[in-house]
Formats: sequence, structure tokens, C-alpha cells
Amino acid sequence: MPGPVLSSEPGDSVEPDQLYDAYVFDLDGTIYLGEEFLPGAERLVRELRRRDIPVRFLSNNPTKDPAQYAEKLDRLGLPTPVAEIANTVVVMVRWLLEHHPGKTVYPIAEEPLVRALAEAGVAMSEDPAEIDIVIASYDRAFEYRKLQIAFDAIWFHQRAILVTTNPDRYCPFPGGRGEPDAAAIVAAIEACTGATLAKNVGKPDPDMLTAALAGVDVDPRRAMMIGDRLGTDIQMAVNTQMASTLVLTGDSTRAEAEALPEANQPTYILERVDHLIPAPLRAELGWTD
Ligand SMILES: [Mg+2]
Repeated sequence: MPGPVLSSEPGDSVEPDQLYDAYVFDLDGTIYLGEEFLPGAERLVRELRRRDIPVRFLSNNPTKDPAQYAEKLDRLGLPTPVAEIANTVVVMVRWLLEHHPGKTVYPIAEEPLVRALAEAGVAMSEDPAEIDIVIASYDRAFEYRKLQIAFDAIWFHQRAILVTTNPDRYCPFPGGRGEPDAAAIVAAIEACTGATLAKNVGKPDPDMLTAALAGVDVDPRRAMMIGDRLGTDIQMAVNTQMASTLVLTGDSTRAEAEALPEANQPTYILERVDHLIPAPLRAELGWTD
């Protein structure tokens, strides 16, 4: 029997006062930054698992596939099955197979997405006369030649649509730096073609949450989405009426959250991700931070 819906009104308390039935975590800026866990992240995940509460991870970053994320979590000391990680590589391939079977794509993307497309049997081409779908992704080998192919397929041949893996402007790095992300590639193609993006499969699209919670038998309204970005992590939770927590360890700030219309605000805003465990339980566990 499902229990009561746990989503509460934005701003009605500082920290969650109860555990949820499942937790979906963003990775970069939420669980780790660079090669370091963020404060409390490791003990939080261990404690949730100890209580048999499903934990899933979700990333918009298409420069790695889930197996590479699993390797990283393993290396950092938190072994995680590949099936418990979803990202835009997986979701883009699924979306293409479901909505555009048999179409020819041109991925402006790094090796993990290209490899996943090949393994799924998706046709790929660099010939603009054959391309049905241009995938603009986070591609650190982006160059004028690729822009020209996209331009010819979309503008000259008037046949290709433009889609993206993720709408992120930049990927955060330790020390406050970052790296231009897929939004920059999308903007370059839109600027020269006049085309408008037809689909984003990454957060905040609800397809991502569906992928993350695949096989988890809980009511999404009793699950919690946790992330560091308002426009992606939190907006996806808002779009699916799921409770959400903004952690202030990555991109978005408390001021940015509080400036949003109430309907778009996270349910909770936390300085530390392990404050998802209610304070009385933290005291029992001897967690003093
Ligand atoms: Mg993040």
C-alpha cells in the first residue's frame, strides 16, 4: 500500500523531517566535484542503502556512459551497479529507437555516445544529404567542419531536425571553473541555420526521470530528486510533481532559487547533501556536521 504523498510545499521547513521511498541524485556538483566526494555524500548513500532505500544516479553529461560513471564511483569508494546509473547517452539512444527508428543521425558528440549509437544499430552519416537528425552534444572536438555538416543538413538540404543530449551551458569544475557544454553547440547551429531545437532528452525532460526510476517500484510522488541546478535537476522534479532538494554545492545559489516563482522552487534547499537524513536520525548515527 502506498503511503501518503510526501511532497511538501516549498519553503515549509528547512530540512526534510522524514525519509522518502527512493532518492535520485545528480552526480556532478551533488555527489562529487572532480575526483572528490562532496561533504557527507558518501555516508548518506551508504546509510540509505543500509536502510534498503533505492538510490539512483542521473547525469546530463554525455561524455561518459553509465559504465564509466560506475567505474568512477567504484574508484572513489562507492561501488554502484551500472543499472543504477542513467545518463543522456542511454536516454538519447532510447529516444531515437522509440521515436525515430530507421533514421540517419549525425552526432556532434564524443566517443561514448557515438559508440552507444553504433551498438544500438542507429545509422550515422557525415553526408548532409542523408542526415535526418543532427544531435548536438557536449563535444570537446567541436570544429567548423562539424558546424558546416549540420548547417548543410538543416539549412541547405532542409531535411534534418536538431536535437540535443542536454541543455547545460557549462559543466562545473573544482575551483569555480567550468567547460562549455552542449548548449554552446546548439546555439552555434541555431545561430547559423535559424532552426529551433526540436528535442532535449536530458534533464529537465521527464524521460530522464523515467529512465532513472526504471525498475524501482515506488510512487514517484514519494521519491526525491536531488541536484545542484535549478534549470535541470529541480525543473525536472517540478515537471513530474516530485519532491526536490537543491544542494548548494554546485551551480545554483539560494538567491537564485528564492527568486523563482514558487511553483518552480525546490522543496528543500540544503548546504550539505547528507542533511537529507532527518536531524534526529543523524544524531542517532553520531553525525555532528
Ligand atoms: Mg550537477
